Amino acid sequence: MNGQVEPTRSRNGANLGHAHLLNQRVILEIVRLHGPISRVDIARLTALTNQTVFNIVEGLQQIGLIRDFGRRTAERGQPAKLFEINADAAFSVGLHLERDHITGVLVDFKGAIRSRTYRARHLETPDQALKQALDSFRELRQRHKRILGLGIALPGPMDFWNGKVIFSPNFPGWEQVKVQDYFTRRTDLPVVVDNDATAAAIGESWFGTGRAVNSFVYIYIGVGVGGGIIVDGRPYRGFRGGSGELGHLVMDKSKNAKLCGCGKRGCFEAYLSLTSLIQCLKEAGVRHRGLPDIVTMFIQENEVVMTWLKTAAAHLAEMIGNLMLLFDPEAIVVGGHLPGPLLASLIERCTKIIREKRGAETVRIPRILQGALQDEAAALGAAVLPMDDLIAPNYERITRGEHPSLLELWDGR
Ligand SMILES: [Zn+2]
Repeated sequence: MNGQVEPTRSRNGANLGHAHLLNQRVILEIVRLHGPISRVDIARLTALTNQTVFNIVEGLQQIGLIRDFGRRTAERGQPAKLFEINADAAFSVGLHLERDHITGVLVDFKGAIRSRTYRARHLETPDQALKQALDSFRELRQRHKRILGLGIALPGPMDFWNGKVIFSPNFPGWEQVKVQDYFTRRTDLPVVVDNDATAAAIGESWFGTGRAVNSFVYIYIGVGVGGGIIVDGRPYRGFRGGSGELGHLVMDKSKNAKLCGCGKRGCFEAYLSLTSLIQCLKEAGVRHRGLPDIVTMFIQENEVVMTWLKTAAAHLAEMIGNLMLLFDPEAIVVGGHLPGPLLASLIERCTKIIREKRGAETVRIPRILQGALQDEAAALGAAVLPMDDLIAPNYERITRGEHPSLLELWDGR
């Protein structure tokens, strides 16, 4: 070693106590993903002994995180007892701050949205927006007692570890805004802040399309475009927590490349975002009253909408080609605010382009899937952030002593 590089590489070892904490969380995750499920199947999927599974399932049931689902029918011998997640075990609040609105959701432990708030936001300063977001949180909080935490999703780029927005091309005036600090001071809950694409990717991984796959790249289409990376069921956030900023990768270097909100030309989001679709309609002088009108225009095969889709699909296909080279993901999940019919058409066109280009290499093409959570993906993902932070089987955090036993965590809730 030449001594010039400050070393950051280290590894924590695990002791028996760590193994127990990890196994609790692994079993809870398996019940969430595959429930209703029997103890024998949990043991098979986790490679744990029947005795370990029996003990942990009993503990999780006692504190109410999982519950009895009755017995499996039509089986020889004694039918196996089944277990599922208890939806009422805990609730979480998620807020999604966009340029012109704040969506808030109260989500149960099974990922169902139990309550919603929506505030149209015409406020210029971060302070005013945060105040409105706090009002949304308080409104939702009143509706339930057992709140595990608060998650907030914003357009990136983020300093995830310090919970602040570094700057935001789609949010004028937002520079170095300490969002986590603001909410931690005003609530008595764990607060997790992340960019909307990563939050939506985690939401899809817990409760949507991503449940079926271990590793995927999520492409979030909203006012801008973002990317969320899930590796083996865990978000990959990067060194500063700012990974996945796909929207500002330059796709078009030609002279007349489109101008992006960030000031550069030819960015991915200048071709794929809702902003770019609305801009195309504006330039062509096509009037509309929002997304439902645009869906009608799509059904009527409006020329401007079709041309936008064609260009967007070509850029998306190229981006997916690059992501395949970089990550070799199991799947690509595309979702966000783009209305369902347009999203489906975009994916179909893009898949066709990739197949035509790749030809014989078809086997190596990842599945391109449509996100299941649609326009609430970021708000629901925000609500999942504290759940993921506190109870996902995160080996590194357990060995650093940052995760208590679930029994301790639930004690007194
Ligand atoms: Zn840009």
